[in-house]
Amino acid sequence: PLPLDVEAVRADFPILGRTVRDGKRLVYLDSGATSQKPRQVLDAERWFYENVNAAPHRGAHQLAEEATEAYEAARATIAAFIGAQPDEVVFTRNTTEAINLVAYAFSNAVTAKEPEFRRYAVGQGDEIVVTEMEHHANLIPWQQLCERTGATLRWLGLTDEGRLDLSDLDTVVNERTKFVTVTQQSNILGTMPPLAPIIARAHEVGALVMVDGAQSVPHQPVDVAALGADFLVFSGHKMLGPTGVGVLWGRAEVLDALPPFLTGGSMIEVVRMEGSTFAPPPQRFEAGVPMTAQVIGLAAAADYLTALGMEAVQAHEEALTGYALEQLQAIPGVRVVGPADTVARGGAISFVVDGIHPHDVGQVLDDQGIAVRVGHHCAWPVVRRMGVPATTRATFYVHTGYDDVDALVEGVRHAQRFFGVDGGEEVR
Ligand code: PMP
Repeated sequence: PLPLDVEAVRADFPILGRTVRDGKRLVYLDSGATSQKPRQVLDAERWFYENVNAAPHRGAHQLAEEATEAYEAARATIAAFIGAQPDEVVFTRNTTEAINLVAYAFSNAVTAKEPEFRRYAVGQGDEIVVTEMEHHANLIPWQQLCERTGATLRWLGLTDEGRLDLSDLDTVVNERTKFVTVTQQSNILGTMPPLAPIIARAHEVGALVMVDGAQSVPHQPVDVAALGADFLVFSGHKMLGPTGVGVLWGRAEVLDALPPFLTGGSMIEVVRMEGSTFAPPPQRFEAGVPMTAQVIGLAAAADYLTALGMEAVQAHEEALTGYALEQLQAIPGVRVVGPADTVARGGAISFVVDGIHPHDVGQVLDDQGIAVRVGHHCAWPVVRRMGVPATTRATFYVHTGYDDVDALVEGVRHAQRFFGVDGGEEVR
């Protein structure tokens, strides 16, 4: 049996009650792109709009007060979810914006008039380190930062198996390194790189470290104190929460020394026509009226996951991953792209089917009501390094059961029969 009660969990997700493609059960294996939402999250957003709706941190009326309380209570919930202090949690639009916030803070630091904001300025001669495994969201902002500042981008490569190659860690991360960023789980390969040696090396040379938790925070317990990085970023929509809300966690003393990215209302301290001063974190990084309902929905998602237990969520997905890897690799002509066993990997499984383009695999699966992702998954360098044009990717979550994996496996066999590449070994 699986660690989570799949039937009970499914009952919480209204969308799983619908059918697709002429009455077929929805087999949703695309949570890695975006997750479905339980009733508890939808109810929380609706509760906010029906009962409280007002702009937090503004206005003297009761609704504004209640909205502020609800918004800040949600911040405390998210902080507790990752073992952080509330003031270290900044709400952004998504992971992408959280990463851009930090990248722009580093270049804004170059011209900041406040000396305390120049501490993490990045310039010529400095190096930024990424990995070849990153989602475009954790690559392009750093390429752009380098173009703005004259800094140099370096990266850690991959092994043929799709693991992070740490053999040149000590030369790639060196005295010139100002910042290192690495994913906790590859969205394509499922690989979970060893973060401890990377974080230790970065800190040894005085660099800051960011962990991209977009594919890890929703699926495993993550505690920022145990992690030991300086930044953690993740998206609400991938962890059962609403779209339009993401999180930047930053170590208090680091956030304190960063200039703002977006500027405007409610991130200021004193404003004069001649110039302004800025509020302390997290307000300094939350310009404008925030995505209040989404933040409240995200807190409901965190509560939902906490009630299931993140350890159980992780164990659940590990069991499904082991089963899926075994079943998929038992099909002649199917090759998993990425680690072939469950060691240090999560539940993102990419694969290719000999003789069928991934887009065609996806289409045949879709005809059977199975939703997967196909393509380069916004991590072009990864598919290029793995020597494939694209992959088909299945990702699991709390409502996924063995029946979903069985449907996937049968769907792939069906695609092979359909395209006549089953080698005649299958009974038609
Ligand atoms: N990093 C990783 C590892 C991801 O999988 C994703 C989403 N696919 C992102 C960053 C970007 O997240 P978002 O699109 O929510 O900003």
